[in-house]
Amino acid sequence: MLRISTLISAAVTGAPANGSRTTRVLHGRGGSVGAKAPIVIWNLTRNCNLTCVHCYAAAQPRQFSGELTLDQALKTADDMAEAGVKMVVLSGGEPLYRKDIFQIAERLVQLGVITSLSSNGTLFDKAAVDKIASVGFSYVGVSLDGLGDVHDKFRGQPGSFDKAVEGVRNVKAAGLKAGVRYTITKMNIGDVDGMFALAEELKADKLYFSHLVYSGRGNGLKEFDLTKENTRKLMDLILDKAVEYAKKGDSPELVTGNNDADAVYLYMRVARDYPAAADKLMEVLKQAGGASAGIGVANIDARGAVHPDPLMSFLNLGNVAEKSFGEIWFQNPDPTLARLRKRPQEFNGRCGNCKWLSICGGSTRVRAQRMGEDLWGSDPACYLTDEEIQPTESHAFA
Ligand code: SF4
Repeated sequence: MLRISTLISAAVTGAPANGSRTTRVLHGRGGSVGAKAPIVIWNLTRNCNLTCVHCYAAAQPRQFSGELTLDQALKTADDMAEAGVKMVVLSGGEPLYRKDIFQIAERLVQLGVITSLSSNGTLFDKAAVDKIASVGFSYVGVSLDGLGDVHDKFRGQPGSFDKAVEGVRNVKAAGLKAGVRYTITKMNIGDVDGMFALAEELKADKLYFSHLVYSGRGNGLKEFDLTKENTRKLMDLILDKAVEYAKKGDSPELVTGNNDADAVYLYMRVARDYPAAADKLMEVLKQAGGASAGIGVANIDARGAVHPDPLMSFLNLGNVAEKSFGEIWFQNPDPTLARLRKRPQEFNGRCGNCKWLSICGGSTRVRAQRMGEDLWGSDPACYLTDEEIQPTESHAFA
């Protein structure tokens, strides 16, 4: 996740550019990235009341077998804290379909883990929101993929937009931080301006633009991914808004995710418009290091399998029902995980010869794989031109 607002504010106002990403990595010796305790996206269940067209977990409205028991989930919470995990996002399916979610969240909060909730927002009645507030969630993210019918069609249920908007209002009214997550495709890009307005009206703390990833049901939507030209237009719009918000002050924080070429596009914009801030920004982006699957981000699925991130469900690193999270994460000989952590990275195609690798990190591997390349090929959703990524003798970024 790239904190566009934070980084643009730093350039516009001269404020410190800390917190560029939610992930932080330590660069170790021996050509690899030190395995620091990651942010964990924990999909507690695949059960969901909606059937969203792009759901990476391919969730359905039914109980799946083999999901972690409460005892296993509580032990996993203990193990993660023991391993040094500082932040967990509870997701699904719809995480509120897990009846013991508040017991799991309470354990995490008691252990000092910053705990967020990622939900479709349709079940946020007063009782649920009171409970969410009392548990101590630090942030609640609600998915809104367009306005009105556009969202409802995306989510497969009429009325889900109104419920989700009401959910955000209820969470904000309870004094919690709440934001909106918006996955952009050709089907809903027409609502971008309206989504900015809605986020402002809701006083959302964050508006998160997610690029489409070809995982789960999202794999069937490849033809609906934006063209490179439209992705650039979208990014221009987001960056324009971020500048406007930075000058204005109190506005939703704008972040993007699932396409690390955004870091490059942001850098090029800052270098053009705020050249005095460019070197500092480059330093911050290099420290963050781009794609974070298997490094600063981990995923635990509903059955306890650990993956490098939620989108790489095909790579099973071990199961928390059988081994501690720390053992799976820190003592894992898996060669694919080792290659994700290897520095300098080794990619094929455009990514393999790109001058921005140190701040992009090759972006989203699963898209390369799903478009017929191998896992280490080019990310097909990279919207930079060949000229823009071309190494030159003078470039100082590799
Ligand atoms: S070519 Fe690959 S490494 Fe370079 S910016 Fe695009 S996605 Fe990132």
